Formats: sequence, C-alpha cells, structure tokens
Amino acid sequence: MGKLLKKEDLNRFLSNLKGIYEIIAPVKKDIVRYDVIKNINEIYLDEKPFFSAKKFFFPKKETLFDFPQRRHFKKRMKPRIIFGMRNCDANSLLVLDKLYLEGFVDEKYKQKREKTIIITIPCDEPEENCFCGSLNLKDYYDLKFIDIGPSYYIEVGSEKGKRLVHRFKDHKMIGEKQDLDFIKILNKRNDLKKYFNDSLWEKEAEKCLSCSMCVNICPTCTCFDIVDEVDLSLKEGKRSRISDSCHLKSFTEISGGKIFRESRYERLRHFVLHKLQYFKDKHNINLCIGCGRCITICPSKIDLVEISNNLGKNKNPKKQNDK
Ligand code: SF4
Ligand code: SF4
Repeated sequence: MGKLLKKEDLNRFLSNLKGIYEIIAPVKKDIVRYDVIKNINEIYLDEKPFFSAKKFFFPKKETLFDFPQRRHFKKRMKPRIIFGMRNCDANSLLVLDKLYLEGFVDEKYKQKREKTIIITIPCDEPEENCFCGSLNLKDYYDLKFIDIGPSYYIEVGSEKGKRLVHRFKDHKMIGEKQDLDFIKILNKRNDLKKYFNDSLWEKEAEKCLSCSMCVNICPTCTCFDIVDEVDLSLKEGKRSRISDSCHLKSFTEISGGKIFRESRYERLRHFVLHKLQYFKDKHNINLCIGCGRCITICPSKIDLVEISNNLGKNKNPKKQNDK
C-alpha cells in the first residue's frame, strides 16, 4: 500500500524534514552529484548522478583511532535522508552490507547505515551505459517515490520508511508502477572463471592506463589501505583508512617486495572477475550494480560488459599459467 504526495507539496515535505534530518540529494553544479542540500530548490532529479553516494558511507580518507590513547573517532551523526537515490545506488548498499555488516561488523559503516533513510526515485529510462536490468537487482528502498505525473506515489519498504511516512499520513492512496527497458545487456554466463586464460584480457589491458578512475567512481569499490600518521614526537598519531585500487601495482605488494598481480592484464582481469564472478560465488550477489559509471568514465573506453560478453570468442586463448 502506498501514499500519494502532490508534487507541489514535495518542497514543503522536504523542508519540514530538513529541521530533523540532513538531506542529501542529487544537485546539478558542474555535473550532477549527490550533495548535502542547503536549499530544497537545488534538488535535481532529471539525470542519474555522475558520482554515486559512496562518499557518504566511505569517504576517501577516514580516521579510525588515535594512539597511544586508542580513542575511536566515532562522530555524533545527525540522522539523514538520501532523497532521489537511483535503485542501482541503493543496491550498492546491499553489497556493502555483505562486506561490512555480516561477520565482522564495521562500526563506522554501521552507524552511517543506521542513521540514513533511503528514498529512491525510479529511472524513467536507462542511460547509454546502464545494464542494471541484467543483474537481478532488488527493488530496495525505505521509501520509493514514483513519478505519476502531478504526484508521487510513495511505496514503503521498511520500518524506517513507515515511521517517516506517518509524518504525512493524511494523503490518499493510489497504485501504479512503471516498467523499464534496458539497452545494454550483459550476457550472463555461469562461470566467467573458465575464461581466466583468455587472450582478451591482455588485448584489453593494452588500452588500460591503470588510472583507477573506474575504481574511484564505482559505488561498490571500497578497498582501502591502512596508514599511520605519527607526529614529530614519534609518540602520538592516528590510524586512518584511505581508498585504494586493485588497478594499482602497489595494491598487492606485500613485505619483501612480492607483487601478486604484476601486469596490467592481471589487474584488469581481477577487477572484472571480482565484480561479476568471485564475489557472487562467495556472497550470492554481484559486486556490480550495473550503473555503467566505470564505462562512462574510462578514458580508454574499456567496458566490462563488452569484455565479459566477448570472452571465449577469441580463437587463440592464452595457455594456462602464461603471463
Ligand atoms: S579500466 Fe579504464 S578507468 Fe579503469 S584503470 Fe584502466 S584505463 Fe583507468
Ligand atoms: S563495476 Fe562499473 S558498472 Fe559495476 S557497479 Fe562498479 S562502476 Fe557500476
């Protein structure tokens, strides 16, 4: 069952919430990105944001604790709403939940998740590089606002959403949904690992600059390095985590100088297989939400959908253990 909110009431609705919650939503400046809203009129819902909302859950650098006191840097957080999130970006949180809330619980991530209400807006149509329709994403939201012309039809997806909806319970109910068409199709294979030695990896990697822009923009890439910054007394300092990238040679370097993925093709191969195979094998969910951002941003036009669709087509597959 859903609620109805007239579009002319949207600003009033969000303005009311702004006193209690920090509102994050897409804004259009140089490009469209999620940002903390100062003025409700800034909200821009006509395009999928170029950058995802990852920075609100995983900033590029985050201090964990100081030493020797071992005080953990857990900030007091105002509750917040991310309004106008796309379903792909909402699904990226389900992927991160697997990593940071199941088994080992990352307290920093947990706090941010608990304090955030997700309000999604369905896409009218896919953008050029979107392939979310190929990945069995969930329809995930606390509230979903569906544009039905003069109003938003609001669906409730969680207890958090239900509590929020009580703030405007006078509105009438209605029901209608839209279906989406998808243009970029990922041909799902049962096991991409069997193409581990395909020569396509090397061919594609010739174009790769190891610039890591794909990793930086990817909503589900959260690998990090741990860095200690010690002050001049050498007695005090702080430990932080800083975003890292599997496209960098240094990523798999261990003490003694051994590097596990020396060549660019090994690193590109790992990126693609981790996104579309390894993670799914372990967690039953892809480490990819089909947002297409890595394809859009890559200066060399490397496209993981094309790669995975073309694996196995080359007549001269690489030999086993060939580098
Ligand atoms: S795949 Fe593209 S964006 Fe990613 S590291 Fe290589 S060149 Fe950069
Ligand atoms: S791998 Fe590419 S398409 Fe998949 S979630 Fe990351 S940026 Fe989006």
